[in-house]
Amino acid sequence: MSLKFYNTLSKKEEEFISIEDSNVKLYTCGPTVYNFAHIGNLRTYIFEDVLKRVLEYNGYEVNHVMNITDVGHLQSDADDGEDKMELGAKRENKSVLEIARFYENAFVSDLKKLNIKLPNKMPRATEHIDSMIKLIKRLEQNGYTYMANNNVYFSIDKFKDYYKLANLTMDELQAGSRIEVDEFKKNPLDFVLWFGNSKYENHILKWDSPWGVGFPGWHIECSAMAIEYLGENLDIHCGGIDHIPVHHTNEIAQSEGALGHKWVNYWMHGEFLVVDNGKMSKSNGDFLTLNKLIKDGFDPLVYRYYVLQSKYRKPLSFSYNRLRDSSKSLYSLKSKISNILNNIDNNLSIDINKVIPYKNKFKHHINNDLNLSNAFTVLFDVIKDNDLNNLEKKALLEDFDTVFSLNLLESNSTILSDEKLNYIEYLIKQRNEYRKNKEWEKSDNIRELLLNEGVKIEDSRNGTTWTMI
Ligand code: AMP
Ligand code: ZN
Repeated sequence: MSLKFYNTLSKKEEEFISIEDSNVKLYTCGPTVYNFAHIGNLRTYIFEDVLKRVLEYNGYEVNHVMNITDVGHLQSDADDGEDKMELGAKRENKSVLEIARFYENAFVSDLKKLNIKLPNKMPRATEHIDSMIKLIKRLEQNGYTYMANNNVYFSIDKFKDYYKLANLTMDELQAGSRIEVDEFKKNPLDFVLWFGNSKYENHILKWDSPWGVGFPGWHIECSAMAIEYLGENLDIHCGGIDHIPVHHTNEIAQSEGALGHKWVNYWMHGEFLVVDNGKMSKSNGDFLTLNKLIKDGFDPLVYRYYVLQSKYRKPLSFSYNRLRDSSKSLYSLKSKISNILNNIDNNLSIDINKVIPYKNKFKHHINNDLNLSNAFTVLFDVIKDNDLNNLEKKALLEDFDTVFSLNLLESNSTILSDEKLNYIEYLIKQRNEYRKNKEWEKSDNIRELLLNEGVKIEDSRNGTTWTMI
């Protein structure tokens, strides 16, 4: 079955054809570890995780590399401002490396909570300065660089089709970028490959290089580490859409400038998560983290579910009300599934002819540029289908959850806060007491009260069960 992705480079959906038969080389831009990841960043990492799982569903083995930026990322992606890592260190009165390791650990812990598979390799920029220097030397030999004010710059006018990824004219790129004019740049869009000790004299992390003591620019780290671990040809490179006009455009220019050939076949970008229609920014400190959502009583997988319900190429707006809706809907989905799992007789068997068409439908949707909304519809159809027995349903749900990764077959207990769960259980117990004593009016009042809380109860011979509506 064909697998199609939207490629930012060609601006259209294309059939995915891997370089090697069964192996996919995937590079995704990682975090700058000067603060916690915000839930917007995490939306992008969830999208990339789904992409990886869809590739695996199609039988590919994925070799995934994600960088950890612990040096060189200035406040603006285009060489302005202070180093974000050094700002973080000053803010917390710690060393840059202390900050880096702390937030790297926090990041990995967020990924695990969201059931995001860890990359095969997470190289740190500070540990790959030699590879960056080697790549800059190659660019120098190929005639793409110039020195000015102790910095090594990449000259974009030397690179044909510099704007091919962003699909913008040079004027549009210049107008869109917030570039404080650096008088030493020949073209305002030129970017720094190596900072000498000119403008950033007090920079803490510095290394020796053929161009003097200094530190690398931000963009070069991704090219250097991707090439080091994945080779000179990549299948897929991802990031958020903000990376298209500057970071990824520069990554292409410097990688292809050094290698002398096309570097990445498919570029995929996740749209932004917005809060109150505004962009969330880590640098102003005012942002939502996964831990904040957990503190507010939400299971991290509720946030994953929230993200999966929308197309990765559409902006997604965040609100607590909608997160609450996701929580209820995931709870009710898991209740239905646990009902199925609790009613599997020993004598059931799987009729493969009933299962395969559903698997095909599911695969058709996920392979259609990760159309998860339609894939969820297939999941709900499976649950409703009276022609499927519960063992067949279980097999299908298990299979689909390798992509959704929402722990759909595990117990429901973590989705609602303990407080709410206790409250619901308490009311149900109380109602059962009233029913035992035939105090019907009181028991009906509790049913009403629960309904107002969004909880629907059902009585059967085996006791009372409840679902969120
Ligand atoms: P950063 O740590 O700022 O380099 O960003 C890490 C990843 O999150 C990158 O792929 C960004 O493109 C992405 N990103 C940043 N802000 C958002 C947002 N509001 N929504 C979705 N992705 C984002
Ligand atoms: Zn990158």
